[in-house]
Amino acid sequence: MEKPYILLTPGPLTTTLSVKEVMLKDWCTWDNDYKQIVQSIRHKLLHLGQASEDLYTSVLLQGSGTFGVEATIGTAIPINGKLLIMANGAYGMRIQDIARVLGIQHRTIIFSPDQLLDVEQLNAALERDADITHVALVHCETTTGILNPLEELLKVIKRHNKIAIVDAMSSFGGMPIAVEEWGIDYLISSANKCIQGVPGFSFIISLKSELAKCKGNARSLSLDLYDQWQVMDKEAGKWRFTSPTHVVRAFYQALIELEQEGGIEKRYARYVHNQQTLVRLMEHAGFTAFLPEVLHSPIITTFEYPNNDRFTFESLYEFLKEKGFVIYPGKLSEAEVFRIGTIGDVHPEDIVKLCEAVSTYVTTTLREC
Ligand SMILES: *Cc1c(COP(=O)(O)O)cnc(C)c1O
Repeated sequence: MEKPYILLTPGPLTTTLSVKEVMLKDWCTWDNDYKQIVQSIRHKLLHLGQASEDLYTSVLLQGSGTFGVEATIGTAIPINGKLLIMANGAYGMRIQDIARVLGIQHRTIIFSPDQLLDVEQLNAALERDADITHVALVHCETTTGILNPLEELLKVIKRHNKIAIVDAMSSFGGMPIAVEEWGIDYLISSANKCIQGVPGFSFIISLKSELAKCKGNARSLSLDLYDQWQVMDKEAGKWRFTSPTHVVRAFYQALIELEQEGGIEKRYARYVHNQQTLVRLMEHAGFTAFLPEVLHSPIITTFEYPNNDRFTFESLYEFLKEKGFVIYPGKLSEAEVFRIGTIGDVHPEDIVKLCEAVSTYVTTTLREC
């Protein structure tokens, strides 16, 4: 077997052995036992999102997280609709790319990656442009790890009676989100982030009364969220096209393990502990976090390259990989940075070991002998 390592790259991320083991069975995609697993997943997701069964549904969709975002944008917004995008990183900009490719009328307010999405600017944009029907934004911008003030932003969107589309890809399952109380119309996340499953599908929690209006809106056959919902509901857990059965079974196991851990609050506490340990020990090793601590999510942290000619990201990456840790390159054009994720089956002990390896790298590679 190839040498194992801990993935600090959300995502995919490190999963438990028990999540991987349940993939050893082959499942039939239209069999009743399998469809019951799918239905159970859909119920559990609503429960995790604090969304009631009467008002909300959850729909699973093949593909990575972006497929879920594209399906939602392409299905939710009618031909005469207009989308406002609030972006402070690459994933916000990806929503703009989706709107452009699909020919959806849109406007984007762009913030720098170290700035929170601003409630006042959102309010002003909605006051100025009455054509806007939908607002899309990212909760935790994984580009930097910045955590946008979701609840406050939603208050403004709802005060203006607009439809809210939230990319909660890297936060759902790892932080409490009250979908119904906060007024989210569509929340998108995927199997391989904080639920700690393996990659292969995305899921969308949506307000049924809104999704019900979207028949025929989709700009794509396979990314039609409305049709996917209809088939999943009418055929009690059947997917329209071949479903990623192993991935679905693994996800079900991951949901059970989330419950065993004590639910989202407990998992959130572990991620916070991981992230705070990481920042403290990395600073000790001489690295500086790109964002001030108050703007941080517990999901992923961006660090600046040290001011040292001997440093290259590749040398740090290879050194850590050899020691059993895989980290993430940066995703900013304006700053030289790298990233370390703190989600997945990763615990404070692992973070301590990682930072010991980083310290060894600093003493062996960066210091003069
Ligand atoms: C991971 C992620 C996505 C989806 O990326 P994929 O590579 O398509 O899975 C979208 N938005 C955010 C904020 C993410 O963290």
